[in-house]
Amino acid sequence: MGRSAHPLQPVGKEIGSCPKSIRQQSGRFDARRPTPRNRYTARVTQMASSRVNTSHALRERPLTRFEIDKSYLKRVLIDLLNTPSPTGDTEWAVSFVQNELEALNIPCRRTIKGALIATFEGLNSTNPRAMTAHVDTLGAMVTQIKPSGRLAITNIGGLMWPTVDSEGVTVATRGGRQFRGSIVLVNGAAHVNKNASSVAREASNLEIRLDERTHSAEETRTLGIDVGDFVYVDPRVEASESGFIRSRFLDDKACVAIMLAAAKALRDADVTPAQTTTMLISNFEEVGHGGADSLPDGLHELVVLDMACVGEGLQGDEFHCSICIKDSSGPYSKDLTDKLRGIADKRGIDIKTDIYPFYGSDGSVYWRAGGQAQVALIGPGVDTSHGYERTHMEALHDTASLVAEYLVED
Ligand SMILES: [Zn+2]
Repeated sequence: MGRSAHPLQPVGKEIGSCPKSIRQQSGRFDARRPTPRNRYTARVTQMASSRVNTSHALRERPLTRFEIDKSYLKRVLIDLLNTPSPTGDTEWAVSFVQNELEALNIPCRRTIKGALIATFEGLNSTNPRAMTAHVDTLGAMVTQIKPSGRLAITNIGGLMWPTVDSEGVTVATRGGRQFRGSIVLVNGAAHVNKNASSVAREASNLEIRLDERTHSAEETRTLGIDVGDFVYVDPRVEASESGFIRSRFLDDKACVAIMLAAAKALRDADVTPAQTTTMLISNFEEVGHGGADSLPDGLHELVVLDMACVGEGLQGDEFHCSICIKDSSGPYSKDLTDKLRGIADKRGIDIKTDIYPFYGSDGSVYWRAGGQAQVALIGPGVDTSHGYERTHMEALHDTASLVAEYLVED
């Protein structure tokens, strides 16, 4: 299936805004297509036809037992995306998540490294579980104040330089001041530099142009800017009526929002998790050690929530939850992976299996640090990951449904 084609929906932006009658027609038309989801929905439609309107059953997937509050999920995600949190400077975002969890009556504590550990009390704690998602993102840092007063920068995590050329940024000083600017090409005027369009977009050719009257290193320093200041790249969050969320750093804020929405679904339904479940909101994933932080001993299962890859040769897309069987670090646990696939099958959640070619997660880090639980990895499909990313509410909803169902499964 192509990235833009979804089995249940015609391509185009009219989905969210078209009248219900057209959506119903689309559903009936698409339900004839022989895709796994439609075989399922046909079955569900049959089962549910005596109770509810056919197209409603098709859209709402009645085998899942929890109502995911989509407006909550979307609100939390957008707020979080607009809260800068490059690895190493995550306090605002961690505080934000802590407030949301405490509002759900889930007690939290901070780790010494600044991550968040929440304990979602279960009916039992005989086989304790954990889930994790990371709140830290890619970013940049001032590495030199140039004689021109402009700033040389280094990347934090796997920031792809060509994707941030011309992007707006905020430079945050140690003293708490913030300055706006943008990442531009050195000698970047097309009317001056004939190679401006072809020169490689990499750290040595890019710099920050501050929106301040500064023409020397001294003047820039007078603003309070120094080497080591964090640079927040504008996320440019946009939610369309057709259900797409386009933003930088959906990796992995989408999954933090999913975890919150799943927890809220249980609270709304007044249902307690089967097992006590530790939730780790990690804050050093993008540099490779977030998952090594403070997960309790004696865990039986760890479900890692991180963005799913979308691209050539992969099955996942922006409309589905994917489960990663193997990534660069090797295979995940077969038993836990199969358990999640079984829950998805039973609850009518169409998930995609994939192998991620260039990927590691907090799950592999947890194992390398000595963690002994079974580990599996799920997440919503995210297009152009580590660039200007995009996903769809359907993938977020499905992943949250699967997490909620997993939490109550014995
Ligand atoms: Zn990630």
